[in-house]
Amino acid sequence: MATMESLIGLVNRIQRACTVLGDHGGEGSLWEALPSVAVVGGQSSGKSSVLESIVGRDFLPRGSGIVTRRPLVLQLHKTESGSEYAEFLHAPRRKYNDFAAVRKEIADETDRITGKTKQISNVPIHLSIYSPHVVNLTLIDLPGLTKVAVEGQPESIVRDIEDMVRSYVEKPNCIILAISPANQDIATSDAIKLAREVDPAGERTFGVVTKLDLMDKGTNALDVLEGRSYRLQHPWVGIVNRSQADINKNVDMIAARRKEQEYFANSPDYGHLAHKMGSEYLAKLLSKHLESAIRARIPSIVALINKTIDELEAELDRLGRPIGADGGAQLYTILEMCRAFDRIFKEHLDGGRPGGDRIYGVFDNQLPAALKKLPFDRHLSLHNVRKVHFVLKELVRKSIGETEELKRFPTLQSDIAAAANEALERFRDDSRKTVLRLVEMESAYLTVDFFRKLSHEPDKGSNPGSTPNTPAPDRYGDHHLRKIGSNVSAYVGMVCDTLRNTIPKAVVHCQVREAKKSLLNYFYAQVGGREKKQLSAMLDEDPTLMEKRNAIAKRLELYKHARDEIDSVGWK
Ligand code: GDP
Ligand code: MG
Repeated sequence: MATMESLIGLVNRIQRACTVLGDHGGEGSLWEALPSVAVVGGQSSGKSSVLESIVGRDFLPRGSGIVTRRPLVLQLHKTESGSEYAEFLHAPRRKYNDFAAVRKEIADETDRITGKTKQISNVPIHLSIYSPHVVNLTLIDLPGLTKVAVEGQPESIVRDIEDMVRSYVEKPNCIILAISPANQDIATSDAIKLAREVDPAGERTFGVVTKLDLMDKGTNALDVLEGRSYRLQHPWVGIVNRSQADINKNVDMIAARRKEQEYFANSPDYGHLAHKMGSEYLAKLLSKHLESAIRARIPSIVALINKTIDELEAELDRLGRPIGADGGAQLYTILEMCRAFDRIFKEHLDGGRPGGDRIYGVFDNQLPAALKKLPFDRHLSLHNVRKVHFVLKELVRKSIGETEELKRFPTLQSDIAAAANEALERFRDDSRKTVLRLVEMESAYLTVDFFRKLSHEPDKGSNPGSTPNTPAPDRYGDHHLRKIGSNVSAYVGMVCDTLRNTIPKAVVHCQVREAKKSLLNYFYAQVGGREKKQLSAMLDEDPTLMEKRNAIAKRLELYKHARDEIDSVGWK
């Protein structure tokens, strides 16, 4: 069974992690699912004073007029022992031991955003306090609600403040600490007015009455404190903070608390309620309520965490996982990418992807038809060789574009494209050489000897009486030449048939088959010999993608951490 402290501490730590990541506020965010306490009330009603007495430390700028002009998200972390210190999210490495310096930094940081005007800003200041003397709580101090704009403020300020405060308190996980000063009629309380609007049943509103010491003599706040004026589900708590005079006299926190306790103990009006009054009691009441609120919400928080983890994992898969920093992991990734590309390229060659059929179209139809038309035109056969080359090149381009994994690495993408195209050039050279050799081989037979031989051979049978040394009378006659001509054309026809078969084979063999078998072999050998530095340069990623992945990876870590934390407290 988890203790109250471990539960609230847990939420506090998760909240803090969310804050560091900038993960707060958004619809459906983890931050929103976690309960927090917002301090709401009219200007100078004593909000900052209440907050300070809960913390037990002086650190907030206080005074008349609009002092709190930005939301202050205050996280109290109870530590086992050791010194007290504060830390701002905007200055993460600086530890403040001096709370007067914290106060100054809050004022300066407020001015940094709003200027030294009386303007407000809804950009929160995040402050964490680590101390053995605090209860684990996240409190939000908000600008005070006002009725009129004062000199130097825009007319819209009244609405702007109300809207900002409402944006915090309307969230169902927000516990409202509604501060009303006792020296004003509760019916005119800005805090109660807003709380009633967002929490009509009063389930998450804690009514706090300040300035009990400033009430007119002869009057008291018993009707309010005993719940007769305005009913809430939780008891009202009366508070006596330090007056401005106390602050000016530097009355410290401990003295102020003692004074407050004495006030209630000795008060003829509130003596019977003394054990349920004062800032210490309020702090405990809040902690206790926060515990049950957290306990009730943990199942839905766990569900949200699991759902978000699934979403983030899916998103990471889509973007590609981060690559290990060592050379081996990098080489592995590069080779994986190459293989992914090669697989798609082969699918194209096999006709398994739209576009691949073209390669076969060229061999089955275009090439034979072209060869038939002009059998001896070397240029034409080379034209076809070239054509195959361009089709292959086009398939490389296509396959690169279709390799989703590669999109992440623009440099590697162009490296692979260049390597593939280089390989295709080499294959083309090989096939050009082979085709030329084939044509040369065939044409080598059409020599003078061939014709000489041709001119004798047919005569042997038809003119047996003549001697070899006496030239036959019709040796260069029409008939003879026609005969040679028909023999030559028969031969040419035969050669054509042969080439018609062998040239496509040579082209397929040298280009398509090689491309399928060993397109990136040369590249693999090159990459294998590269240094880690060169490898990581090849895996140079698109920076926006990298940022996106890092952000997702960090959020994923946060959510997984939160899940582990929740598991470890054994909240059931
Ligand atoms: P905020 O504007 O609501 O944050 O109010 P502050 O906490 O800054 O308080 C405004 C002024 O009222 C300061 O001068 C406080 O000293 C004074 N004050 C607040 N609470 C009490 C109280 O309970 N008793 C007395 N006497 N003065 C108080
Ligand atoms: Mg204030």
